Amino acid sequence: MEFSNSLKAEEYLDRLRTFMEHKVLPSEPIYHEQREALKISGQPHVLPAVIEELKEYARAKGLWNLFLPDAHEPAHGLTVTDYAALAEITGWSPEMAPEALNCSAPDTGNMEVLHLFGNEAQKRQWLEPLLRGDIRSGFAMTEPDVASSDASNISTSINRIGDEFVINGRKWWTTGAMDPRCHVLIVMGLTDPNAESYRRQSMVLVPMDTPGLSIVRNLTVFGYEDQHGHAEILFENVKVPVANLIGEQGSGFEIAQARLGPGRVHHCMRAIGMAERALSLMVSRSAERTAFGKGLNQQGVIQEWIANARIDIEQARLLVLKTAWLIDTVGAKAARKEIAAIKVVVPRMAERIIDHAIQTHGAAGVSQDTPLAAMFAGIRTLRIVDGPDEVHLRDIARIELKSQPSSRK
Ligand SMILES: Cc1cc2nc3c(=O)[nH]c(=O)nc-3n(C[C@H](O)[C@H](O)[C@H](O)COP(=O)(O)OP(=O)(O)OC[C@H]3O[C@@H](n4cnc5c(N)ncnc54)[C@H](O)[C@@H]3O)c2cc1C
Repeated sequence: MEFSNSLKAEEYLDRLRTFMEHKVLPSEPIYHEQREALKISGQPHVLPAVIEELKEYARAKGLWNLFLPDAHEPAHGLTVTDYAALAEITGWSPEMAPEALNCSAPDTGNMEVLHLFGNEAQKRQWLEPLLRGDIRSGFAMTEPDVASSDASNISTSINRIGDEFVINGRKWWTTGAMDPRCHVLIVMGLTDPNAESYRRQSMVLVPMDTPGLSIVRNLTVFGYEDQHGHAEILFENVKVPVANLIGEQGSGFEIAQARLGPGRVHHCMRAIGMAERALSLMVSRSAERTAFGKGLNQQGVIQEWIANARIDIEQARLLVLKTAWLIDTVGAKAARKEIAAIKVVVPRMAERIIDHAIQTHGAAGVSQDTPLAAMFAGIRTLRIVDGPDEVHLRDIARIELKSQPSSRK
């Protein structure tokens, strides 16, 4: 196994650390002020201006679209392992840094899909403006009426009539769709209800302004109204040309799988960045406060939290880097077990550390005065997003059971 940082990754890391230290982290209070002002003016999903400034800066420094190795000429050629280290750094400011680098979900996954499976016309119309950071996009798979962790339940219908697909159904948790810059959705639905179960679904591109598409409401996360939003969307006889099909009819499930491999490494590395920031805040707060005659950092229980946090972060990071290295060397399919494992290990680990950091801060930890409360809400959702823990555990158990000779008797 070889997953130390390459020279190229080190060079990008230096640039990214400087950008985070001098630009992103000092801009956090400005971001929150601008968001507050936008909310008061009735525009909670408009992007604060400070992010556009950071985007300009990041682009000028070459810190742009780093998740996609060969999107630009000349290609930057970063591997999944190289990018993993960079994604971790962006996790220190999860609301701002990924977007500033044009590396935020769900656009990264959508861009990967268009890059891998889109035709030339689709790339020109949607991938190019996404890569420029001019528009955003959404991925609409989950539905309120069915258990969507089982993708074969997805029931939105996509019927071919002549040269068009006609879409009917209700989606929710379409991240990004509340942002006025969101111009297109990748919608997953049933095109072939009688095919074998993994060939029933397809993905089609649906422009946001297509007649029949309406946003029902925004969904909050523990009461937080995220800037890009999570939309419930109704599709009533929404018509798009058949040319909007991505890949082949019936390939939706296969594309969904391809979309999630590197994406899970990105999510997990950002979560490790969040855990590192929480640990750093736990250390600094415990050094500042005295209770019952000694510094909080002299209390055994807090020392134990700090020590366990360091151990847990190191273990989790090694597993994610091993997974990234496997994706680079043998591909996402062969790394299925590890991809499922990191999706369970990392959010649990980060949730525990952020929880301890909150506890160390006392009441301040649950307030808006530190990033911890928002980080806690965000990390809790990661145990559900892109498949709940239980589904990944089931997949790992199945692979393990198959691989053990004793279980084949
Ligand atoms: C913040 C956030 C952002 C999201 N963004 C998007 C997005 O952009 N696009 C999109 O399409 N979706 C998105 N989602 C939805 C997310 O991917 C789904 O919620 C997830 O796949 C689970 O589906 P479900 O909510 O229908 O839960 P269900 O499928 O109803 O499952 C509920 C629970 O049942 C249990 N369960 C399910 N299967 C098993 C099993 N095999 N064994 C044991 N227990 C099991 C699990 O505990 C699970 O949590 C987002 C969700 C959140 C919270």
